[in-house]
Amino acid sequence: MNAYRYPIRPHRRKHGPRGYRDAADFQPWLRDEFLFRCVYCLEREQWVNRIGHFHGDHFRPAADHPELVLDYDNMLYVCQACNLRKGRQSVAEPLKHLLSKDIVVRRDGSIRGRTKAAKAIIDLLKLDGPQYRKRRRLMREVIAMAAKHNPKLYRELMSFPDDLPDLEVLKPPVGNSRPNGVKKSCFALRVQQKLPAMY
Ligand SMILES: [Zn+2]
Repeated sequence: MNAYRYPIRPHRRKHGPRGYRDAADFQPWLRDEFLFRCVYCLEREQWVNRIGHFHGDHFRPAADHPELVLDYDNMLYVCQACNLRKGRQSVAEPLKHLLSKDIVVRRDGSIRGRTKAAKAIIDLLKLDGPQYRKRRRLMREVIAMAAKHNPKLYRELMSFPDDLPDLEVLKPPVGNSRPNGVKKSCFALRVQQKLPAMY
């Protein structure tokens, strides 16, 4: 299992909550939508204190597109570092261009894009910079060591968080444009014992 494997296919949104007045209310939906990890660098909630560490990022910057500030389809789940790095800049769509076939993550923690768009995202967010490299290398080594010597820790590092959001009980003020997604949420899958132990 490789924690730094980017998604195989472009992401198709499964949720569509509408009508929240506060961007923070989208957070539980975004956590589930993007598997509790940063869409840019794949940092996972399980590896950090997630409070304050993850944000709903406006893909099209709020300052330039105020009409999209409360539009779920313009939001991504990102870590603090990537959120700061991206800021107001425009970037190619990570959901289309950060795919496993387009990205090489090496053992030393370095990362390289195989396509122009993937390279542009890596450059813009400095995902190959020393801090990100070090973080990837450290996490890879910790995970590999846990896999070998500490199965309990390994499961914890590679599992979904315990506090999965129960999206069924959330009622977005103007409904949900993709209501079927709730049944495929990680919480619902865990209840049905269909959620994998690790990912
Ligand atoms: Zn990140």
